Formats: sequence, structure tokens, C-alpha cells
Amino acid sequence: MLTRKQLWYLMRKERGGLWFDACRAQGWQYDDEQRRHGIYQHLFDAGKIQHTRASQFDDRDFDAVKSHLLVLASNIQGTVETDHPEIGEKRRLLHVVKLRQPKLLSIVLPVAEGADRNAAAFEYIDQVMSSRFHTLEGLRPVDDLNVPELEMLRDTLAARIDTYRQKAGYTVHDMYQAAHLPCPPSTACRKCAIAKLNHTEPVSA
Ligand SMILES: [Zn+2]
Repeated sequence: MLTRKQLWYLMRKERGGLWFDACRAQGWQYDDEQRRHGIYQHLFDAGKIQHTRASQFDDRDFDAVKSHLLVLASNIQGTVETDHPEIGEKRRLLHVVKLRQPKLLSIVLPVAEGADRNAAAFEYIDQVMSSRFHTLEGLRPVDDLNVPELEMLRDTLAARIDTYRQKAGYTVHDMYQAAHLPCPPSTACRKCAIAKLNHTEPVSA
């Protein structure tokens, strides 16, 4: 059971209240109980707390909830990105080379029948990294590349993906469809634009 003091610290509706400050930093409503219970549930599922209701929290639950809410309240990621725009840029590039491009590669890369297409895509990216950046596999993960290196990797992969796409006979739109991704705005894809207008799934070729 929480003490009155702990409960006050957790729930008081003013600055200094743990939930209040987290809401302010994240743009949430203080009264959004569903969200608050969702956070407790999330911490419970992750094994960080032993109870899902504040009325049942013990001291250890309280400490875990407190540190989680303090992180949310400090909005660390947002603050860092404002002070260091290159970090936001790096995050965007990592999203492309770690998520989008592997998906596209897994569609167009020629692989032996029955081979794991995802594994093949990541293996291919590892090879490109070690030949472009002389990384030894496993010693310099993609997260360690700086922004210019990541841009180089993205451009290299984009060129290779395009070559394989043409060899495999995919249109740009079909490749993105197969990867369950929308065409990027830079391609000014008409099929995606029409689909967006009609609020329907993109039409295939
Ligand atoms: Zn499209």
C-alpha cells in the first residue's frame, strides 16, 4: 500500500506531481486514466512492477513507476533533438537503413529458393557496410555510423535496391506494395495519390 505522501507525490495535480509532469511533457490529459493504467499495465507486463493498480502498489512498485514517469516528464528524447538536430536526422536515417531498406531489399534481392529473404537482406547490408566502411562484421554496428556515413549507406542501398528491382521486373509502386510500405512522396506516385484521394488501398498494376 502506498503512503499518503507517495500517493500525493504520484497524483497531485500541479507541477511536481509525477503524473502531472509526465502529462505536461508528453501532451497527455491529466484525466486520461486509461493511459495511466496502460502505463502501469506495460510496466507490469515488463516485470517492473508486481501490481497493476496504484491502490495495491508497494514501495518497489512505486519506485519503478516513479522512475518511469520521471523519464516521461523529462521528455529526454525531445529535448536532445531540439538541442542537437543531427540526432533527429540520425534517427530518421537509421529508420530508413534499418527498417525500410531491408524490407525493400528482401523483396527484390535474388535468393535461393526457400532461403530466408529477411536474413538475406540484412546479410547483404552487412556486406555493403564492410566494403564501404571497412567495418568488421559485428564490431561496428550500423548505429555507430555518423550522419554522413549513414547518408552514404542509404544512397548506396537505394542504388542497389533500384538495380535489383529492375532486374526482378518490379515497378517502384509494386515493390513498395510488396514490402507493405507506401511509395515515398519523392516518387510522386500517381497510384498512391489516387488511393489516398479515395481512401482505399493502393491499386496494384
Ligand atoms: Zn505507389
